[in-house]
Amino acid sequence: MSQVILSTETLDRILPTGERTIEEIEATYPPRNLPAGAEVVRVAPSPTGFMHIGTLYMAFICKRLAAQTGGIYYLRIEDTDTKREVEGARELIIEMLENFDLAYDEGPIIGGELGGYGPYSQTKRADIYKTYVRKLLERGLAYPCFATPEELEANAKNQMAQKIRPGYYGEWAVWRDKPESEVVKALDAGKQFVIRFRSTGDVNKRRVVHDLIKGRKELPENDNDIVVLKRIGLPTYHLAHAVDDFLMGTTTILRTDEWFPSTTLHMQLTEALGHKPFVYAHGAPIQKMDGNSRRKLSKRKDPEANVAFFEQEGYPVVAVLEYLLNLANSNFEDWRRANPNLAYKEFEFKLDKMQKNSGALLSMEKLEDISRNYLASLTAKQVFDLVVKWSQKYDQELEVALLADPEYSAKVLSIERDNAKRKDIGKMSDFRDAYGFFFDDIFAQVTEFDFGGVAPADAKALIADFLASYDPADDQQTWFEKLKTVGSKNGFTPDTREFRQNPDKFKGSVAEVAMVLRVALTGRNRSPNLHEMMLVMGKDRVVERFNRI
Ligand code: GLU
Repeated sequence: MSQVILSTETLDRILPTGERTIEEIEATYPPRNLPAGAEVVRVAPSPTGFMHIGTLYMAFICKRLAAQTGGIYYLRIEDTDTKREVEGARELIIEMLENFDLAYDEGPIIGGELGGYGPYSQTKRADIYKTYVRKLLERGLAYPCFATPEELEANAKNQMAQKIRPGYYGEWAVWRDKPESEVVKALDAGKQFVIRFRSTGDVNKRRVVHDLIKGRKELPENDNDIVVLKRIGLPTYHLAHAVDDFLMGTTTILRTDEWFPSTTLHMQLTEALGHKPFVYAHGAPIQKMDGNSRRKLSKRKDPEANVAFFEQEGYPVVAVLEYLLNLANSNFEDWRRANPNLAYKEFEFKLDKMQKNSGALLSMEKLEDISRNYLASLTAKQVFDLVVKWSQKYDQELEVALLADPEYSAKVLSIERDNAKRKDIGKMSDFRDAYGFFFDDIFAQVTEFDFGGVAPADAKALIADFLASYDPADDQQTWFEKLKTVGSKNGFTPDTREFRQNPDKFKGSVAEVAMVLRVALTGRNRSPNLHEMMLVMGKDRVVERFNRI
């Protein structure tokens, strides 16, 4: 059936021409002046709630691609689904990208926009979309559809009952070929409408898609007359993608593979608009193991689906990024081993090394491991800066403690820090547990001292005798000799082996003596080197703590 092209008069009632023509709009998006091979890539989240780790992952990949090629990485906020928008979600996206060192070249920022190819929030582009849709209408490539939601639902039920493919196509596309008189009648009656794309595709035919991650694939053509403009005058994702990525000059559409099946539709739309085809790269979303099976991260079940979780826990940004790089290109791990001192930015990320089908597996143990190694490689000052920054937001009591005497804090962090030995924290939220006792206000919260098998009276006696001979100037060896002497006097052998062989003859060994001192000083039975710790704590603090027992 030949397509109906509506008269200008009717079209003006449906979608009046905008203030600017397509040519005028396009003139404001000149070609970008970039070196050959430069990638223009974008991350395009919808502000519908918390920020998903997958968005951070994509943003990071975009940033690497743009940085490696001298290109542009931009943020576009896809907010056309106004009903699903959550207050504060857009600010959160902006803030998290900044916090994770993924600042973009262009896009919305708090209080404005960066870049000359905006606006970068889709709701601010309504007129642009309408102008393109009007062009489709004028050429008979789109048409108004007055079907009510109830009618559409009835169709869907019908299709289901008959076990046929759902959708608005063929005989189900009731408004596709309605004569103009019917359209006018519906308009006169004040009926609401959407604009649908008039698909010329045939599902029985297949199209080749060259995806930069998945490789060569074939997909069925699309024959659905999908909605391009909603009742509220905003576009659907499909049209907005085709228009925005064209105007903004995106060179590679990097997105999650949930969009892969729609690619032939997007190719059709692009052709209908008269534009060159896009280059696509569809990445599989991050997964995790659940028992023996893999699944996508779940918003409800997995705290690690939420970017904010990584910030709250205080994983260092570099560790998170290196971990993501590891997920994206598994050869990064070997590279890191071979180049322990290079920044991850020196590694060449490649799209075609990403997993083609199933998503990379998120493992918190692996992240923890990367993070511990990373933190161990830092100087005391670097760790200090990280933990202060984190505590400002998430543990003010710790912040106060750290800043009360920065010199002392620096010494605390320096204990056994050389040669990347201190792997006791993987994230800032581990800090309080591993180092909190050094700080008096935090240590004051310890109310119970568990001396293990040593009786409290013996613990007291050991501490009193140690104090009597304690000299903070003692070197490690002298100090240790004193420990042994104090122990012997109280029935604790200096020889740990002897105690093991004759446990009934002694109350314990010098190991128990050290343990008693450690518990008294820290409230814990594990700590860094005791002698070094006492040096850092200083005489007054040590004496005061021993006197508490
Ligand atoms: N707003 C889309 C989403 O959140 C973006 C897809 C794309 O990157 O094109 O899924």
